[in-house]
Amino acid sequence: MKAYVVESPRKGAVMETEMPTPADDEILVEVKAAGVCGTDVHIYKGDYFGEYPRIPGHEFSGVVKAIGKHVTKYQVGDRVAADPNIFCEGCDACKENKQNFCVDMHAVGVTRHGAFAQYLTVPERCVFPMGDLSFTVAAMVEPLSCAVYAQEKMGIPLGSSVLIIGAGPVGLIHLQLAKMNGAYEVTISDIIESKVAFAKTLGADRAVTSQELEQMGVERSFDVVIDCTGVPEAVEGAVKYVKDAGTLFLFGVCPDNSSININPYEIFKRELTITATYALKKTYGKALRLAQSGQVDLLAVVDRRLELDEVPDLFTELESGNSGLKVIVYPNGIVD
Ligand SMILES: [Zn+2]
Ligand SMILES: [Zn+2]
Repeated sequence: MKAYVVESPRKGAVMETEMPTPADDEILVEVKAAGVCGTDVHIYKGDYFGEYPRIPGHEFSGVVKAIGKHVTKYQVGDRVAADPNIFCEGCDACKENKQNFCVDMHAVGVTRHGAFAQYLTVPERCVFPMGDLSFTVAAMVEPLSCAVYAQEKMGIPLGSSVLIIGAGPVGLIHLQLAKMNGAYEVTISDIIESKVAFAKTLGADRAVTSQELEQMGVERSFDVVIDCTGVPEAVEGAVKYVKDAGTLFLFGVCPDNSSININPYEIFKRELTITATYALKKTYGKALRLAQSGQVDLLAVVDRRLELDEVPDLFTELESGNSGLKVIVYPNGIVD
């Protein structure tokens, strides 16, 4: 089969590799659509904890090609998507229902081979039937499930005002979920004007450039501020927008050696909550149902569709930052 393999940091190529064989409890999936995410870029660049060579890609959908002998719920030909996270369900964290801190956590496309390939294997317990969703939308359920997990934790009270910093794919998903959760007003900002303009079409009450946000006089006026940039300077600058007793939520992933300056007296005096979520935990099924209900427009955040052969150039390009929205790769040819 053909796969995009990162052989070592910054060295990736599409090559012929051996087709994986499903273990007894695993399913072999013919990958139809695979989303490109910041994690994939980290794997490409080498700032990640796993081993090389690695086939990245953890946001995917496809068709069951073969099943292991203990698989009971799926048959060859079923249309499926999957939660890429594989928890042991036996360690202390798992037993306390904190599976995203599992000491033996694995993930498709991170610690084992992923979806930028014609085929991959995944345990049956991670797989979900995707129904009649398009393959493209089904591949977007994984980032949606991360956002669902985050919004469950942050809590957006009815009638609250929300500020989202960063109008990339996850910012645009958070925008839609915040509205559904009962925010009376959602403001979104970005440094790129085309992203600001697009956010308006997805229901933002106010979509502004970062510069405009600075000049609006909206300090201390948002119940919840969600950072979707992962840029330390943006996080530092976000504190001033949080209302007294409000929440600053870090969804974007900052570099792990970064630091910011926050006045602890301000946290005390204003009763600020600063929190985050790590990956996702058991929200994939909920996200799938939301996608199937049509209440979240996932297709709107997809702006590029690529064949597998175009992936090496894409990663070279993404290394220097991403000014676009979601890229979907179709390892077996472009489909809906
Ligand atoms: Zn991802
Ligand atoms: Zn565990």
